[in-house]
Amino acid sequence: MKPYDALLPLARRHVHAADIADNRSFDHIVALAAKIFSVAATSLTVADFDRQFMVANHGLGDRLHPVDTSPTYEIIAKREAIVIGDLAQQSRYRSDDFDAPETRFFAGVPLILPDGFAIGCLALADPAPRDAGSLDLALLNELASLAVLQLEINVVVGTIDPVSRLPNRAQFILDIADMAAQHADTPAIAVLIDIVPPHQVDAIMRALGPAHLDQAIVNVVNSFRILTDDFYRLYQVSAKQLALLPPMGTDLDHLLRLLRRHLTGVNRSQLTRFAATVAAGIVPFILGATDAPNLLRMASSAAQDARQAHDDVGIYSSTEDRDHQRRFEIVRSFATALEQNEGLYLLYQPRVDLASGRYYAAEALLRWTHADLGPISPGEFIPLIDPTMLIHALTDWVMQTALDHLAQMRQRFAEFIIAINVSAHNLREHGFMARLLANLDRRALPPQAIEIEITEGTFILDDRIVMATLHALAGAGVRIAIDDFGTGYSSLAYLEKLPAHTVKLDQSFIHGMREDRRKHGLVRSTISLCHELGHRVVAEGVETMDIAAQLLAAGCDEVQGYGFSRPITSADLKTWLEPRYGLPDGHTAFKAVTAP
Ligand code: C2E
Ligand code: MG
Ligand code: MG
Repeated sequence: MKPYDALLPLARRHVHAADIADNRSFDHIVALAAKIFSVAATSLTVADFDRQFMVANHGLGDRLHPVDTSPTYEIIAKREAIVIGDLAQQSRYRSDDFDAPETRFFAGVPLILPDGFAIGCLALADPAPRDAGSLDLALLNELASLAVLQLEINVVVGTIDPVSRLPNRAQFILDIADMAAQHADTPAIAVLIDIVPPHQVDAIMRALGPAHLDQAIVNVVNSFRILTDDFYRLYQVSAKQLALLPPMGTDLDHLLRLLRRHLTGVNRSQLTRFAATVAAGIVPFILGATDAPNLLRMASSAAQDARQAHDDVGIYSSTEDRDHQRRFEIVRSFATALEQNEGLYLLYQPRVDLASGRYYAAEALLRWTHADLGPISPGEFIPLIDPTMLIHALTDWVMQTALDHLAQMRQRFAEFIIAINVSAHNLREHGFMARLLANLDRRALPPQAIEIEITEGTFILDDRIVMATLHALAGAGVRIAIDDFGTGYSSLAYLEKLPAHTVKLDQSFIHGMREDRRKHGLVRSTISLCHELGHRVVAEGVETMDIAAQLLAAGCDEVQGYGFSRPITSADLKTWLEPRYGLPDGHTAFKAVTAP
């Protein structure tokens, strides 16, 4: 693409006068013109469809306004210079057609692009009339060419990618607006080509260095240059993403086949292998109904969905996009909820000791009511927050709130215990344990007053830091519970190696255990195994007394579930506990678990 190609659509549409005016070079050009021609005022204007903007001036001060009817507009429209030696000697123009006060002498030349298109005007004005013939028009035209050159640089820098020389995102946005103006309500297609996923960027940078990555990107860009003919428009919308606008009327299936074939080739090619895995997202849309930034976002979402499905091309799906947007919104607004302490609260679900019927522990469960989306279940938001840094602030919030409640509870129920769910990421965080102990200390609570529930995962066993923290916590007297035991990665090594006091059997184990003899057998033997290893066993999700009776018969220590109480507020918990609180016989709350 020749540089001025980028300038043309810009000049015909919205001239970003503010951007152009930012450039000090134009100030120098008008100042130079004033000096060379000894005139009181000079101006440089740039034209849009129907208006022109003063980009720079000398001697006009603040008297700037868009000029719609002045001779400068005629200069641009006719692409011809106008020279008036003395305004008083002619009848065509009046003095208020001019920006400069009391203009008598005026000369203006058009700014002409290399293809002959006039984009603006460089004008001189002075209160003193002079001989029109004495003006050196060639010199004035030279200065105008200088201004054109500067405009080109300005615009090109703004709309051309400096590395690939493809039009950039700004140009994509302008072109979509242009297409929408010319073909409103017509179906069209936009494609985003995501050259390399972030994890691959990191791996390549580490293994092969940035030059390798750059070269792979150039190879992909070139492959698309070859693929697309003049009717396709290709853009570099970010360092690792291209956009493609197929010609109007392109058949979606045809495009899909074309991209699939091309991407299969590219992804297998020696030139890109290991360094780039290209995925494309296609968005069919209606011109004028979706703006360009949103199109890029939608196409990018389709490309990510394709990647996740191990495919190379994806077509935008509003359902998946809505789900993705919801997930994004959840993470975004959870940060605000934490910061402003809004919509978050804890509920507590009591656990009953089956043999004695006494209650002395409850699990803290986080609840969140989003201002717009309403209540969101922890089953939905915790897995989204867990991989982010917000998990630290989340657990801190839960910890502080639960310990405040616990300190109050203990005034009435002296040995009450609260179980708090924590993520393995928390255990990996430096200073987590010290902060936890300090928080307990500040409220005069012993470490034995809380139980930390961690969800099993084989990785925990191999994580030196997590294991060290767990052992240190257990050593300090904090109770450890293995949550959701029986799902995911349960292994005997897990039971053996973790310094746990409590094992919480997962609901999936418990539900249906009455009808399913195998399940029943599994629960019974798991309970004995846990007891052999010195753990207390809590069954989760106990919804009926029938199941509770079976669990009791199987030797289960405690149960938790809707059959006894749903999660309730701390105030309700106090009332609820009043007739039910008490430590079971042989209660092991204070038994220290020694590290193996
Ligand atoms: P979890 O730790 O296994 O918590 C038990 C879940 O089972 C709770 O769901 C509870 O409301 C539910 N439940 C209790 N009894 C019954 C029952 O009889 N039947 C059925 N169907 N469900 C029952 P909830 O509160 O929705 O929490 C879901 C998960 O979210 C929790 O599972 C836990 O992994 C996580 N979570 C909740 N609060 C926190 C928190 O403060 N921090 C962290 N890191 N995770 C939390
Ligand atoms: Mg739990
Ligand atoms: Mg659980």
